[in-house]
Amino acid sequence: MSLPAFKLVRPRSLDEALEALLRYGPEAQIVAGGTDLIPSMKQRLFEPRVLLDVKGLGELNYIRFNPEAGLELGALATITEISESALIAREFPVLHQAAASIASPLLRNLGTLGGNLCLDTRCLYYNQSAFWRESLGGCLKKDGHICHVAPGGNFCWAAYSGDCAPALLALEATVQLAGPRGNREIPLAEFYVNDGMVRLRKAQDEILIGVRVPARNAGFEGIYQKLRIRKSIDYPLAGVAAVMRKDSGGICREARIALTAVNPAPRLLPKAEALIGKEFSAGLVDEIAHEAIRTAKPLTTSASSPEYRRRMIRIFVRRALEDLWLGRRPRDGGAKKDLLSN
Ligand code: SF4
Repeated sequence: MSLPAFKLVRPRSLDEALEALLRYGPEAQIVAGGTDLIPSMKQRLFEPRVLLDVKGLGELNYIRFNPEAGLELGALATITEISESALIAREFPVLHQAAASIASPLLRNLGTLGGNLCLDTRCLYYNQSAFWRESLGGCLKKDGHICHVAPGGNFCWAAYSGDCAPALLALEATVQLAGPRGNREIPLAEFYVNDGMVRLRKAQDEILIGVRVPARNAGFEGIYQKLRIRKSIDYPLAGVAAVMRKDSGGICREARIALTAVNPAPRLLPKAEALIGKEFSAGLVDEIAHEAIRTAKPLTTSASSPEYRRRMIRIFVRRALEDLWLGRRPRDGGAKKDLLSN
């Protein structure tokens, strides 16, 4: 499959990039690593007249920590840089595990944090060639009028399938956006819209420039569990990120759990608050794991059945809480054999 024709624009600064976004309007699309966008363009899911290549903006590539600002990540920090950062591995292990689980070494070298956070939602009926999609008459999200997943409705259930977002949600991250009206910073949880077509609260003329994790979350124990068909390359079919801080007596003082790949947006589990102030209890862990499947709403947007993905979410939440609370080493959550062993 070949790429559609486009004009390539390479701004030399963030200001130039913002000017170009204003000049070309909706005809322009931002690209950095291109690991998701370029295959999607080959499938004619996107045909931008202008590709705004921001990869050269060195000012957006940094990983730094200080006790006041916390962990600051530039949108152009690559997934390899994040997964190989000793600071992140030590202080924010959930983010380290999530980044290390993404795709393959070559794709991690190219892919950026900003691209991973802004990933398009995915669906079996959407991530196909134009020829394949045409045979069904398209769908609500692209070139059609019905949803093949939920034909009676007018909602797109395509799943957000990034790995860094649930880890960063669990770490209470904020995102920084630059635009012609100035810069703004919003909680990552507010950046996403639980709608497969709308996806992000980012205006067309804004650029995601960075992410910040509050310093108070440094040192939290964390685990990321991911279901995928193959243990490399694949996007998650279900994912759970969990963080916890305990006191010396084993009482949970803080805990957050976030899910990915089972809704149009990554979601925090509100019920995780019930863990605070409690000592380990298998019953409570089961209750939270059961509650997770009320938040997870996987539909037939992938090759794996919704029932299987829901069941794995429950297993992942239970395992993550047991491992964090009892101080066990994180288990590998990457292969289908997981279900068989439970
Ligand atoms: Fe299309 Fe429905 Fe899939 Fe959305 S969930 S991409 S509307 S088929």
